[in-house]
Amino acid sequence: MAKEYLRTFRLFDFDEVEKHLLISGDLKGDCASCRALGIDFYSAETCPECGTPFKYCASRRLEMNPGERFQWARHMQEKRPDLTLIDYSDYAKILGKKKARDIFG
Ligand SMILES: [Zn+2]
Repeated sequence: MAKEYLRTFRLFDFDEVEKHLLISGDLKGDCASCRALGIDFYSAETCPECGTPFKYCASRRLEMNPGERFQWARHMQEKRPDLTLIDYSDYAKILGKKKARDIFG
């Protein structure tokens, strides 16, 4: 049976995702919880700064290169089968809403 990546929609506890998210950039990643930079997203199980265990991963790079989405998913799934891959634009959109709520709410 051929295996392919399909994007799915699932209900997440957003605070939980934000707390345990590793955001991958071009070469290194950063921690969404404490904003620590320069994290090796292939090997870091926890944040070297705040110690939070990573459970989710999103790629900021895909904002500029959306065509690489499935390539990235395949790559990360091989390297980090322990992480749930989420879409960065979804994350960023909800984070923006949450911040606006915190400021104006
Ligand atoms: Zn951290």
